Amino acid sequence: MKAAKFDYERAVSLQQIQDALAGEPGGVRLMGGSQSLGPMLNLRLVRPERVLDVSAVPELQQVSTVNAQVRIGAAVTHAQIEDGLHEALRGHMMQKVAGRIAYRGVRNRGTLGGSLAHADPAADWVLTCVALGARVNVRGSGGTRSVPMADFMVAAYTTVLEAGEFIESVDVPAVSATARWGYYKFTRKVGEFADASCACYFDPATRTARVVIGAMDGAPRFLPELAAKVAAHGAAALAGDTIAAALQPILAQRDPAHQELFRTVVERSLQQALGLKG
Ligand SMILES: Cc1cc2nc3c(=O)[nH]c(=O)nc-3n(C[C@H](O)[C@H](O)[C@H](O)COP(=O)(O)OP(=O)(O)OC[C@H]3O[C@@H](n4cnc5c(N)ncnc54)[C@H](O)[C@@H]3O)c2cc1C
Repeated sequence: MKAAKFDYERAVSLQQIQDALAGEPGGVRLMGGSQSLGPMLNLRLVRPERVLDVSAVPELQQVSTVNAQVRIGAAVTHAQIEDGLHEALRGHMMQKVAGRIAYRGVRNRGTLGGSLAHADPAADWVLTCVALGARVNVRGSGGTRSVPMADFMVAAYTTVLEAGEFIESVDVPAVSATARWGYYKFTRKVGEFADASCACYFDPATRTARVVIGAMDGAPRFLPELAAKVAAHGAAALAGDTIAAALQPILAQRDPAHQELFRTVVERSLQQALGLKG
């Protein structure tokens, strides 16, 4: 199917986006890399009167370091992160994860902001940004606000973005000498969304310990007790059925095959973070 008719415009400034959203909140739709919006338009799941392409706005393409945080513009693409184009993201968890999103054609166009705004439960950035404790910087006519990623996605394809608001940038911790992380996802074949995924992030310097699972029905889910055990005891915490027990309250209604998939992604992600496997 082809998209219904719409007007297309390329934004060149943040103000232009803000004005467009304030002027016609229901009629205008932002476009990042169009890797999710494009199919939605073609299936006529959305029929905006006007599409405003934000991918070329200079402020949205910037990456900078602010107080041990890397600020990544919303229009930075998965491929730019994968390629280490920005020094602050070389060797970062974000770089490793980027290379495993979909396939290169999608990564060339798909953007960090578009992925978070789309809020697919199986999306790699959604899970990674929760595990990293990222903050989403949102702009609207009422000013700017910074939302913890853990609160940003409220359900499948639903975020706290209000009418007239858009994602300007995302803050993630800078590469740290002490931080350890792991990321593992099961996909049926390369380029598909995850069937089960887990990201973990430990940094003794900031007393951070997070283990998070994705590809759930809604937003990613934390496993705080498991994270605390692993942070305190390392690999010893994985002995026995610790992982299965941590997952039990969340996955009790799922079939055994699904439970095993999640147990395995959590185990492999933790093994990476603990340096037991690459
Ligand atoms: C074949 C295929 C396989 C894929 N596999 C994966 C995968 O394995 N893992 C994965 O994580 N993703 C996957 N994706 C999704 C891909 O990562 C997309 O790039 C991403 O979901 C959307 O980003 P985008 O920049 O293309 O956003 P768009 O498609 O342009 O927009 C998506 C939504 O976000 C809104 N939006 C865009 N920018 C902003 C902004 N700055 N502020 C507020 N709202 C905004 C749009 O209005 C729209 O509602 C896949 C996509 C395809 C087509």
